[in-house]
Amino acid sequence: MKVGVPRESREGERRVAATPETVGQLKDLGVEIQIEAGAGTAAGYPDSAYTDAGARVVPQLDTAGLDVYCHVRPLTPAQATGLSRGTITIGLASPAAELDTVSALATAGVTAFALELVPRISRAQSMDALSSQSLVAGYRAVLEAAIRFPRFFPLYMTAAGTIPPARVLVLGAGVAGLQAIGTAKRLGARVSAYDVRPASADEVTSMGGTFINLDLDAVEGAGGYARELSEDRSVRQRELLAPYVAAADVLITTAAIPGRPAPLLVTGAMVAAMRAGSVVIDLAAETGGNVEGVVAGQDVGVPTTAGDGAVILVGMKDAPSAMPTDASRLYAKNVANLLALMTSADGIVAPDFTDEVLAGACLTHDGKVTHAPTATALE
Ligand code: NAD
Repeated sequence: MKVGVPRESREGERRVAATPETVGQLKDLGVEIQIEAGAGTAAGYPDSAYTDAGARVVPQLDTAGLDVYCHVRPLTPAQATGLSRGTITIGLASPAAELDTVSALATAGVTAFALELVPRISRAQSMDALSSQSLVAGYRAVLEAAIRFPRFFPLYMTAAGTIPPARVLVLGAGVAGLQAIGTAKRLGARVSAYDVRPASADEVTSMGGTFINLDLDAVEGAGGYARELSEDRSVRQRELLAPYVAAADVLITTAAIPGRPAPLLVTGAMVAAMRAGSVVIDLAAETGGNVEGVVAGQDVGVPTTAGDGAVILVGMKDAPSAMPTDASRLYAKNVANLLALMTSADGIVAPDFTDEVLAGACLTHDGKVTHAPTATALE
């Protein structure tokens, strides 16, 4: 069976859905792999490395002739329409935001697997691209903060004087937040963190952070995810967070609710109350932002209330794509592991929908939208 991997077309995307390492893994499954020329170049994987690994590098993918199409970013409706009936796609699909593509995939009779829908169960951890890419984003967020922050992160005691450590506050302690805590800690900062899920307190501590307990009831929904707060509880949460935000030198926000816009945790007034030179990194900028006034892909200077300078508010965009080599290494593994789950010993790709991982991750099949919330959104 033919598996194709395109050169990603979305502007700014540098990742690729297969690496030379996963080409080896896929070949062992007994499938044939076609890589579009230049697909891995921006991620540091040249065409020659794919050829050496046993893939066929083609100038342009003939998508209509593929059995499986592995991608990073959601397809466009036109790309979906160009696939043949019965083609299997594996990649990020952003179902809530890309309804036109979901419709086009269903109409084209494509069996689309959305990596965002892979169930968060132990058996599926090796296919969990949300986790692997959040790990990259959390790490990157701290580096972005450190290069903009005009001071050191670690404590320095020198003959010329003592420099206190930076105080880093992380809001949202999921996969990205925990990586941010660990990275800031490794750089020597004093780190504290908060999450609405009290279960995250132990994880924060194990990464070396201090967990902040707000006087707010626990909010934990299905599958260990957070639920949306009511408006008055959100207001209360912001009031309680205000003194912690004002005391931070660096604020990193990562809060998200699956399928919903990002919760607003920090108002413009809270940012303005920080010290001049402080840095705020909002990892949720692309889904509405945790911080009022954030613009995805831009740095915005927010004048301080004290009138002595500005706080830099950074709207992170395409964070995993900024570290394309390792982000692709992990992502491609997630893709290959999901493909392996639906491939028989003789190299035939035929998903078994009684498997909860495959059933859960399936977005469209046989002309229908199989993911119920997306089907409802399309009605
Ligand atoms: P996410 O990206 O959906 O959200 C990031 C964090 O924001 C979460 O920790 C969430 O609790 C927090 N948050 C939401 N609203 C908030 C608010 N108003 N204030 C403060 N924080 C808020 O989360 P994620 O990184 O995908 O992880 C979510 C959960 O899934 C965690 O419990 C994680 O341990 C679990 N998980 C399980 C697996 C697995 O078993 N395979 C894999 C990854 C994650």
